[in-house]
Parts: sequence; structure tokens; C-alpha cells
Amino acid sequence: MLLRMMVVVGMGTRPMEYRVAQLEALGRFLEEKKQDILEATGDTRGRCWGAEQLGQGTALRSWSFLQMTQLDSAFIRKDPYGVVLIIGPWNYPIHLLLGPLIGAIAAGNCVVIKPSEKAKNTGRLLAESLGCYLDSDCFAVVTAGVQETTRLLENKFDYIFFTGSPSVGRMVMAAAAKHLTPVTLELGGKNPCYVSDTCDVRSVARRLAWGRFFNAGQTCVAPDYVLCTLEMQEKLMPALREAITEFYGSNPRESPDFGRIVGQKEFQRIRALLCSGRVAIGGQTDEKDLYIAPTVLADVLPSDPIMQEEIFGPILPIVVVASMDEAIDFINERPQPLAIYTFSSDSKVSRTSSGSFCGNDTLTHMILTSLPFGGIGCSGLGRYHGKFTFDTFTHQRGCLHRNMGLEALNTLRYPPYSQQKLGF
Ligand code: NAD
Repeated sequence: MLLRMMVVVGMGTRPMEYRVAQLEALGRFLEEKKQDILEATGDTRGRCWGAEQLGQGTALRSWSFLQMTQLDSAFIRKDPYGVVLIIGPWNYPIHLLLGPLIGAIAAGNCVVIKPSEKAKNTGRLLAESLGCYLDSDCFAVVTAGVQETTRLLENKFDYIFFTGSPSVGRMVMAAAAKHLTPVTLELGGKNPCYVSDTCDVRSVARRLAWGRFFNAGQTCVAPDYVLCTLEMQEKLMPALREAITEFYGSNPRESPDFGRIVGQKEFQRIRALLCSGRVAIGGQTDEKDLYIAPTVLADVLPSDPIMQEEIFGPILPIVVVASMDEAIDFINERPQPLAIYTFSSDSKVSRTSSGSFCGNDTLTHMILTSLPFGGIGCSGLGRYHGKFTFDTFTHQRGCLHRNMGLEALNTLRYPPYSQQKLGF
């Protein structure tokens, strides 16, 4: 049953007429089964049938309650959660800590900031300097490795904002669950990029190469792999080679604009992925320099090692598919990614699901503060950027301040209940 639901969602359940019809059917159920509902729920409330009827009345005849509250004041108070923990990754160590911090401060929270131990200099800078600018009673930087962070997470925070890998995200969420602490999880994943047969290949190659090789491929929203036809793969190769040379010169190792892998362990992991498919561009590595050339792999199979994990390095595999429909099936058979990219005029991509989407480019959607940024499923939970960051760190407290007058109007909700009183 669950499997069937997974197939239907996103297609069958989206049209507005469908949703309205289902809600109307639910209304009919409540109306036609009123008596059965009262009898069925009576066993759990000592036969206090009036309470259920009152509950139904709230939903179905809310106008009467509106009358009761006309002289009252109803408002939403935007409260801070309290003490927030922000844990950041190493790859954009300032942006990914201070972005959430701005929202947390704006919403009125106290904040503990935990930079990545892999971005040592940034961690030190923040620990040494931030206290000179911010109120140190309310904002603290904790430089901690894995063990200390594990202990830090044993404390009860009021909100945890985590950016990092899905595996660590699971641990953070498990630690938060012990205190029922709400979380935002900004995670990674494999972002597909579909290229249709009818695009301007040169522009596609430049936009694709920029997104993939920026920061040596160590960007959470980087296009992780390309899906296209065999014909397009052949056209893309020379165009990608040209784009890489245009950006980084004939020897990218000497380019000041091409980065290095963050550490030895990460280097070895990424280098091991080069055994997939056929190296069509690049492929050179130098462990001492933590250098992996901008690389494109052709004819990669779905079963190849590079297709089993987030690459997070400067390698772009191309997986050949026969059509856009096959590409969509390929994407839908895998965990929901942080971003989906398409170079195509076809809107069929709405049959997929991802944290975000960008048509005819890569990465640029995340620059817009008017768009929420975040994952779905394995790529994360929650959203931020711009006003969404403020909302993330804000508890919207529904408040009603009642008028003490007009007590007679309240008679309707007080027992004893009768059929006449409840209007049926
Ligand atoms: P990571 O998960 O290894 O580390 C992230 C943070 O978690 C660090 O501060 C680290 O100290 C801490 N940490 C690591 N292991 C821990 C543990 N066992 N218990 C508690 N805390 C622990 O990630 P990373 O290598 O720094 O960054 C790369 C990952 O982050 C990639 O998967 C990338 O896609 C993802 N990422 C996501 C976004 C986003 O906005 N969605 C942005 C950047 C990076």
C-alpha cells in the first residue's frame, strides 16, 4: 500500500479538483457518519458524547465560535525558541554559520556556534573575534571535534540547525530527539542534471562545468552527475573540454581559481571513484598537493561506485539514458536530492521531487533570498535564506486574549449539552 502511495503522490494527488473532491468527501463522511462517530468515540470518553459533538461543531460550524470571539484579540507572537545550536560544515565555513546566525539573532535567540574542525582557521577566527563584536553572554563559539560535539549534543538545546552530511545529520537528529528538540538539517546528496538533445551545447557546458568544478566540486548543490543521450554525451565532451580550459587554463593545477581537496581521507575517497566509466577529460591526481584535475567520466553505469555516494569532488560522471522519461524514472528511483537541474524546455520535471530546482543553469537558484533553500527526504529537513531564516528560528505562538464580558454567549459550550444546544 505504501509503495502505491509513493507512486501516486506527486501525480494523482496534485490537481486542485482532486484535493477539493477529497476534502468534500471527508466532509460527507463527518456528516453522514455523525452518529457512528459519536458512538465509536464514546468508549474512550466515558460516553461524554457532547465533547465530540462540540469538537465537530468547531470544525463544521466555526461561525458560532467566531461570534463568541468577536470582542477578543487574536494575534501571533513571534517568539524566539531560546538557546540555539548551529553546527556548520567546512566547505563554506563563514557563510554556512553566519547565514543561520543572522536569522537566529534577528529572531531573538541565544546561540552556540560550532564550526567544523576541518576549517581550523575559520573556527579559530570566529572563536577569537566574534566575542569582541557580539554580546558574549548570549553568543558563544565552541571549537570542537567529533567527540566533543557528541558530548555537546547531549545538552538540551531549544533548536538545532545542522549543515553537513546525511550520516552525521541522522546522529544529530537522534540526539535532538532525546529532548524533542526541533531541527533543521541541511544535508547533501547526489544532484542530477538532465541535458536534453536540443540545447545550446556550448552554454550548457559552461554552466555545468562552473557548477561542478567551483570549489573543486565541494559544494552541496553542485550537479553530481549528468543524464543525457549518447548523442548528447558525444557533443558535450568537446564543449566541456573547451569550458574547462577557458576557466582554468590548459593546466588547471596552476590556476588560482581551481581548489584542492580538503584533506587526505577525502582525497583518497574521491580518487577511488575514478575507476568508474571511462576518463574522457582530466583524471590526473597528486596526493601530496591534494589535487584532482577537473574530470569528466563518460559511459558511467548506474552500478559504478561513483553512482553510489555523493561525489563532493571535481568529477563529473555522465550516465547515458534513452529519453527524458528514462531520466525521470532514474531520478525517482533514488533518494530525493538537494537540487535537480535540467537543460530542457520540457516541464515534465515536475514529476520529480527535490529540495530545489533550477532550469537552464546550476547553483544560481541559491543566490536568491526570495527562494527557500533546503532539502527533502535524505537531503534535509527545513528551509532557510532571506526571511525564511528568520521564520526558521521563530516560534509562531498563537495567542488569544479574551474579553471578560458577554458571558451569556459562552453558554453554548458549557455542559449540560442537549441536541437543541448543539444544533442537530
Ligand atoms: P560533516 O557531516 O562531516 O560535518 C559537519 C559538522 O558536523 C562539522 O561541524 C563536524 O564537526 C560535525 N560532526 C562530524 N561528525 C560528527 C559526529 N559524529 N557527531 C556530531 N557532529 C559531527 O560534513 P562536512 O564534511 O563538513 O561537509 C560536507 C557535507 O555537508 C556534504 O555532504 C555536503 O553536501 C553537506 N553540505 C550541505 C550543505 C547544505 O546547505 N545543504 C552545505 C554544505 C555542505
